[in-house]
This record gives sequence, structure tokens and C-alpha cells, in this order.
Amino acid sequence: MKGPATELIHAGEADRGIAVPLTTPIYETTTFVFETAQEVVDYNEGRSSKYLYSRYTNPTVVSVEKKLAALDRAEAALTFSSGQGATTTILIAHMKAGDEIVCSAAIYGGTLHLLQDVLGRFGITPRFVSLEQLADPDRVFTDRTRIVWFESPINPTLRCVDIRRVAGACRARGVLSIIDNTFASPINQQPLALGIDLAMQSATKYLNGHSDVTGGVVTGSAALVAPVEKVRRMVGTVMDPHPAYALGRGLKTLPLRVARHNANAQTVAEFLAKDRRVSQVYYPGLPSHPDHETAKRQMSGFGGMVCFDLDGKYDRAERLYNRLNIVKRAASLGGVESLISMPVLTSQWGHTDDQLREAGVTRGMLRLSVGLEDAADLIADLDQALG
Ligand SMILES: *Cc1c(COP(=O)(O)O)cnc(C)c1O
Repeated sequence: MKGPATELIHAGEADRGIAVPLTTPIYETTTFVFETAQEVVDYNEGRSSKYLYSRYTNPTVVSVEKKLAALDRAEAALTFSSGQGATTTILIAHMKAGDEIVCSAAIYGGTLHLLQDVLGRFGITPRFVSLEQLADPDRVFTDRTRIVWFESPINPTLRCVDIRRVAGACRARGVLSIIDNTFASPINQQPLALGIDLAMQSATKYLNGHSDVTGGVVTGSAALVAPVEKVRRMVGTVMDPHPAYALGRGLKTLPLRVARHNANAQTVAEFLAKDRRVSQVYYPGLPSHPDHETAKRQMSGFGGMVCFDLDGKYDRAERLYNRLNIVKRAASLGGVESLISMPVLTSQWGHTDDQLREAGVTRGMLRLSVGLEDAADLIADLDQALG
């Protein structure tokens, strides 16, 4: 007879293989059981498909990574605890002191500060370049350039970079090309097929799509992803099984959701473009967008992000922002709910007039993450808020 402590810990735990689940369960376990010492030896020597420890690999997490690799037609995918976790792990895996990273100046604020304030202290030199410079990457490389990091479309103006061109210039010089593909999602844009080496995304946005998971992902060749996996084990930026389960669930409807995001955003953008109360609309799916041709060449859908300007006037933007009912005032993007933000209060907070001009941002700009509500209701909400 065993004591109650022993029973409560071990009873019922070994009943495996009876119930075969349709969906991948949440393997909420930090470690995995071996039967013999030989099994551990086989694992250590890479001759086993077993699991050892969840900071290394976990079946729920691996299930999601298989979906993400398939989505990008990539040899390998890794998930992380956040988009920033992905960026940090990728960069420290592929850079060393003395290396230079060429980075688009128009970049996610977290990436900018990570490079400027954190990685800079470890001897990695970031060099920020304009979109014009990025269009001609051959001219920005130095002997120390190791990585080019950029986004397309870019927050908040949704300017697009010729991805194939950047990828080609990088490959010719032996420079690693990495794109942050968060805004487009792999449904609308396949950077690896355009020649990019590694594609990073914040899974917090479209991939999960329900505004309830923080996560990150990288996809690419097995050779380039392997060193990132090694570093992830050591820095511990792994995704936990519970959010991995939620992400896997969200991914099953990604193509349906993105199709609806695309359609709703196009409808909203066309409504705003026709409205005389709106001075400018930025959406890659509008022929008036400066990069419409580039976007058409490299995207199969134009995404759910729309930006618009009310004559550069902060008070007009503020009034619209405060009056919206269905569209919620919140940071982030890519969820089922439509969200609005004012770039001068978020990504461009504290910027001078010169810095705003450089980023193409005005005080009257609003950034809309168009959700999956009925388009007519979103238009009615915007119409009343424009007042
Ligand atoms: C949100 C976001 C990130 C950072 O992702 P987190 O999941 O918040 O860490 C990086 N790049 C872009 C473009 C983003 O929108």
C-alpha cells in the first residue's frame, strides 16, 4: 500500500495510448520520461524522436512549428515567447561583436530600441538606413555588414520594399537577409520564396489573431534555423505549451481570417479615400499608394492595416479617435477586433517635427487594424466619428 502523497503524484499518470486525440493536447509538462539509460544515450546522440525537457522541445510547441514551417514552405520553424524574443534570439544567434546590422529606419519600435539600447552594448553596430537607401542595398553594405533587417509593409504608412531586390543584393554579398513579415502575414506575402533567408513574425498579431497570445516565430532553411534553436535553449525564449495550443488553434483559420481582413480593409480604405473629410489614405491596395505596383508584384493580398490622415491636425484625429464605438482604442493589430491608434501617441511618441517628417507621419494620422466585423458596421462607425 502506497501513501496518499505517492498515489496523488503517480496514479493515473501513465495511462497513455488509450485515448487518441484528434487535436494536439496541451503537453503541460516540463520534462519527459525515459524507460532506460540507453534511451537517454540515443536521445543525446540524436538517434531518438523522444522529448527530454520543454525548454528544448515540447510536443504542443512542435505541432505549431510544423504548421508554421508548412505555411512558409520552409525547412524549419521555431516559436518564441514573443516577437521580441524571436528577434533577440535570431540576432544573437547570427551576430558577434564587431558585426554591423543594416536596418531600415522605418522599423518596429521594439526592434529599434533593442538594436540601439541593448545589442549596441555588446559590440554590434546598428546602421539605420532610409527606404531610398534600402532600395539600393549594394550601396549601403560595408565589409562588416552581416545582416540586413527590414519590414514590408512598414508601420504606419504601409510603404513597401522591393523584397526580391533586397534579397538578391544580400545573397550576392554573402549578407543574411531577414524580414519582419508581421504586417503582411504569410498568407499575403511569402518572403522565403522571394529569396529572403529568414522570415520573422510576431505571432501575437495575425498568426494567432484573437488578441490573447503573445508569441514570435522564425522560418527559414534548416541550416540557418539550427543555430537559432541552439541559442533559444540557452537564453530560454521558448513558447509555453499553453499559448502554443491557442496559437495552433488560431492558425487553423488563418487563411479565412486574412481573406476577410483583406476584403474589409479594401472596403474601408475605398470608403475613406472617397470621403472629403479625409485628406489622405495609405493602403497598398489603392492605386494611389506610392508602392501599389511593388505590392501587387510581391503580395497576394494587401492586408488588414489602413492608415489615414485628417489634414495633419491632431485635434481632428483626437476627436475621431475618441468618438469611435465599434473600433476600439488599443495598441497591437491583427486580431478579430478592429483597433485604432494614433502613431504620434504610440510608435512616434515624443518625436520632433523633423523626425515625424522623416517617418512620413503627421499629427493627424490614424492607424486602423481592420478586424473581422461586418464592413458596413465599421464604415458606419467611421462615418459617425468623422462627424
Ligand atoms: C508587435 C510587433 C513586433 C513585436 O512583437 P511582440 O510579440 O509584441 O514581441 C515586432 N514587429 C512588428 C512589426 C510588430 O507589429
